[in-house]
Amino acid sequence: MIQADLHLHTMYSSDSTIAPKTLVELLVAHDSVKVAAVTDHDTVDGCNVIRQLASPYPDILVIPGVEISTLEGDILILGTEEMPPHPWTPECIVDFAKSNGSVSIVAHPYREYGMGDKAQEYKVDAIEVLNGASPYLANEAAQKLADIMCLPGVAGSDAHQSSELCTVHTQVQASMDIDEILKAIRRGLVSVSSLNRSIHF
Ligand SMILES: [Zn+2]
Repeated sequence: MIQADLHLHTMYSSDSTIAPKTLVELLVAHDSVKVAAVTDHDTVDGCNVIRQLASPYPDILVIPGVEISTLEGDILILGTEEMPPHPWTPECIVDFAKSNGSVSIVAHPYREYGMGDKAQEYKVDAIEVLNGASPYLANEAAQKLADIMCLPGVAGSDAHQSSELCTVHTQVQASMDIDEILKAIRRGLVSVSSLNRSIHF
């Protein structure tokens, strides 16, 4: 069983201040969250650098990923070091994720830049049901969406500054192995929880 923050932004996103080194140091120091997916806005440029910074530490794991801005809403792709080809429609992103063994997740469906009910039209792998930057009701609606779609629910902090990292996390029934973690997410071997419930309200 591992605990992971599956949605966060580093300085490779124009609106985040989190330095790669800070992220790695936090994972090293954290007593339970040892896995993080780097999901910068529309770029995978930071993933390689951050994975290299993390490589001397065998007890932490960085999953490469990206948060793609589509006209319909944001989609996370976990497990890719490549960008999806254009056009960035939800269908194309879902197909890209399936073809390269990564996982597609509807990010914060009921917040700004979220897909809302339209998510039901796409064959995504999971729904982000607990987003550290979303209000309680938005997360609750996201959980209902996951239930309706019979899809796994995952959590991510959506941190843009270091104090927001790991505020929520996903428990994954997997070992410290990216492929195993991605497989477990697809199979629904996940649950979500918050380290600080007050952030929901
Ligand atoms: Zn985000």
